Amino acid sequence: MNCIFCKIVDGSIPSSKIYEDDHVVAFLDISPFEKGHFLVVPKCHVALLTELPAELLTHTISVVQRLSAHLLKCLPCDGFNLLQNNGSCATQTVPHVHFHIIPRFNGKALNWISGAYASGEEMKLFQARLTVNEK
Ligand code: 5GP
Ligand code: ZN
Repeated sequence: MNCIFCKIVDGSIPSSKIYEDDHVVAFLDISPFEKGHFLVVPKCHVALLTELPAELLTHTISVVQRLSAHLLKCLPCDGFNLLQNNGSCATQTVPHVHFHIIPRFNGKALNWISGAYASGEEMKLFQARLTVNEK
């Protein structure tokens, strides 16, 4: 299957992973609305939220909650947006279900525009700050 997120899951294309377990992976969005913007992605290929088995949804949303708490503390940031698009009419560009977690800051205007890291080094810095160390 020609799915970019399946390729990230199986490691055939690189990503800046910050968390992984048996069912879910989280990695930095390559074109972040804000630096530190990451995606939580169930490993099994399902296009839409409505197709995700209930048990996997429960697990995924608990990972979203845990990693959001981690983001607030470790980025740090003041708040965050949770975004989840379904269908091209809703601006879903990758048809593999995923949750966006977008850091937000007091006094900074909200933007919904894709940005970029200044360099691979800068992206690595954010990855290091947000990587979950279970130990
Ligand atoms: P959607 O619009 O489908 O909700 O969001 C897809 C997201 O995936 C976009 O924010 C886009 O920047 C991100 N994305 C697309 N291709 C890649 C990739 O190869 N690597 C990473 N890390 N993010 C990607
Ligand atoms: Zn996929």
